[in-house]
Formats: sequence, structure tokens, C-alpha cells
Amino acid sequence: MSITFTGVTKSYPGSEIKAVDHVDLSIEDGEFIVILGPSGCGKTTLLKMVNRLFEPTAGTIAIDGTDITSLKVETLRRRIGYVIQQNGLFPHMSIEENIAVVPKLLGWDKERIRARVEELLDLVHLDQQVFRKRYPRQLSGGQQQRVGIARAMAADPAILLMDEPFGAIDAITRISLQDELLRIHKQLHKTIMFVTHDVEEAFKLADRIIIMQSGKVVQFASPGQIMAQPANDFVKQLVGVDDMQRRINVLKMRDLLPVQEGSGGPLHMGPDTVSVLHAAKDVLARFIETKAESLKVLDSKQRLITTMTLMEFMRKLGSMGAAHADDEAPKRTNHVI
Ligand code: ATP
Repeated sequence: MSITFTGVTKSYPGSEIKAVDHVDLSIEDGEFIVILGPSGCGKTTLLKMVNRLFEPTAGTIAIDGTDITSLKVETLRRRIGYVIQQNGLFPHMSIEENIAVVPKLLGWDKERIRARVEELLDLVHLDQQVFRKRYPRQLSGGQQQRVGIARAMAADPAILLMDEPFGAIDAITRISLQDELLRIHKQLHKTIMFVTHDVEEAFKLADRIIIMQSGKVVQFASPGQIMAQPANDFVKQLVGVDDMQRRINVLKMRDLLPVQEGSGGPLHMGPDTVSVLHAAKDVLARFIETKAESLKVLDSKQRLITTMTLMEFMRKLGSMGAAHADDEAPKRTNHVI
């Protein structure tokens, strides 16, 4: 389902600050959207207005073109799964009972609930025999978060809102949960809005990233676009474009052009090499445009470096005349890609 924000503003009672300040956004059906920004910039407020845990002070939010205020809150929340950092599992209920909360509220019969619980435990890769009768306290943080995801998906919502769901999870488990979530997204095509202040997490997961600063959306674009064209210095700093740039400078053309050990010296690119590189430019441009999906299989660092390396490569080519060699580039060869 698509989600559209039009002029959405939120001020909390008694506060002069606009927690969310005139946000206009269009999220497509099935997109994985990450909301990224520093603490207090309005990420959670923006998210919670979608399932009406908070009401905007001004503006409208529409799901598939329908203003959410025209729906009953229960109807709306049934279409929207919600996962938070503290997973919110009921401690006195077994895993099975936790997952079944919403289906029970919806009056599903026992057999249907049982089948759904099994399906969901499979989906989040938890062994039913081991986990269904356990209680939350008998699970690790990562396992509890998987149950949190399963529970949010119980009534098959079209939209999943996730507020720093992996924030309290150790780094290694976090990576595997991110991978699981990408797999689930690929499988089920839910529209996901995912809050984080972790840049690497955002770049790994997102189709597009909403970058917020002081309640405003300062950029809404794909990870590749953000790295290539950060909207302003704040975005540049937040996503570490300069750090990436330094790494790229270290990598230079070295990783793009095969080199012979010990050839040393500055790279000299003759006109032939330059024209081959120019021919490659369009191929690389298409790669970035159309294969952004395939970058997802890389881990976030590899993906950033790959994207940035290609961007840098293209920028370099753009600034290089086909007729002359780049004297500043390190010399090695007449090698071609
Ligand atoms: P964090 O990453 O720390 O969770 P965030 O980006 O999610 O932050 P929000 O929680 O949306 O930010 O808060 C945005 C602004 O609104 C902040 O200035 C915050 O202090 C304020 N705020 C949030 N909740 C309330 C509230 N219930 N009452 C008053 N002000 C609030």
C-alpha cells in the first residue's frame, strides 16, 4: 500500500518545537523506506502518526489514497504491523500466545490461528518445536525480536512500521536480523517504514531513505543518490560522505584497473585506455541505476564502497577529457578494465 504525507506537521502540547515540520512525502507500495536522522529529529513522531498513535497538528496522511482519519482506528491498525525496540511481548504469554493476540481479537478459529502461528515461526526462522511453548524470558533478545516481527505480521498487514527494532541487539545478531528482514521483504513485498539512527543499517536496508533534521525532511532518495548527491552539508556529515571520499582516495583507481605487481609509479592512461573507460561509463551508470537491488546482497560496508567507488570513477571520467590523460592519477599501465 502507498503512504502519502501532505503538509504533515506535529507540535506537542505545551511545546513550541515542531517535532515534524510540514512533511510532504510519497511512499510507493512495497517500498522499504528507512527514516534516518539524529536523536530528536522527529523520526518516531513521523512513524507514529501513520498508525495514529499520534495525531498531526496539521496536514493529512493517506494510505492508498484514503485519508487515515476516515478509517476506524482499529481498522487502520489491523492493516499496519508495528514493531518497537523493546519488542513489547507479553511476559506471561507463551510465544504462540503472543503471536496469536491479534488473530484472536479478530475472532479467527483455533485451527486457523494454529496454522498462522506455524507459518510465522517458519517465516522468522524459529523452530516451532523449540519455541512455540516457551515464554519471552526464555528467549535471547534477537529471538524475541523475531517473535516481535512475527506478531506484527500476524494479521497479514500491508504496512510494517518498525521503530529501531534492532537498536538493543548485539552487532552480529543485528546483521542476521537485517538479512532476515530483507528476505521477508523480498518474499512478501510489504511497505516498510523503518526508523534508525544507524547509517550503515539504513544503507543496507533501504530502497529509499528519508533523512530528517529538526522535524524537516532534508532528503528523500535512494542510498546511491544520497552518496552521490547529498542534499546539504548536514546530510554529507550524517552519512559520512567525506569519510567515504577519503577511503575512495586511498582506493583510487587501483581497484578498478588491474595492475602489475611492482610496476609502481604514477598511472598513465593513454588515449586508448581513456576511450575504453568512457565506453564503460554508461555501462556503470546503468549498473547503478538498475542494479541497486543487487547491491543489497553485499554487506553495508561493501555496498557503500562499491557504490562510492563507481560514483567516484564516473565523476573522474566526467572530469577527464577523452583526448588527454589524467596526469595526477597513479601510473601503472596500459591496462584496460
Ligand atoms: P530518537 O532517535 O531519540 O528516538 P526521534 O528522532 O525519534 O528521536 P521524536 O521522538 O520523534 O524524535 O521527537 C521529536 C521531538 O519531539 C523532540 O524534540 C522530542 O523532545 C519531542 N517530543 C517527542 N515526544 C514528545 C512528547 N510526548 N511531548 C513533548 N515533546 C515530545
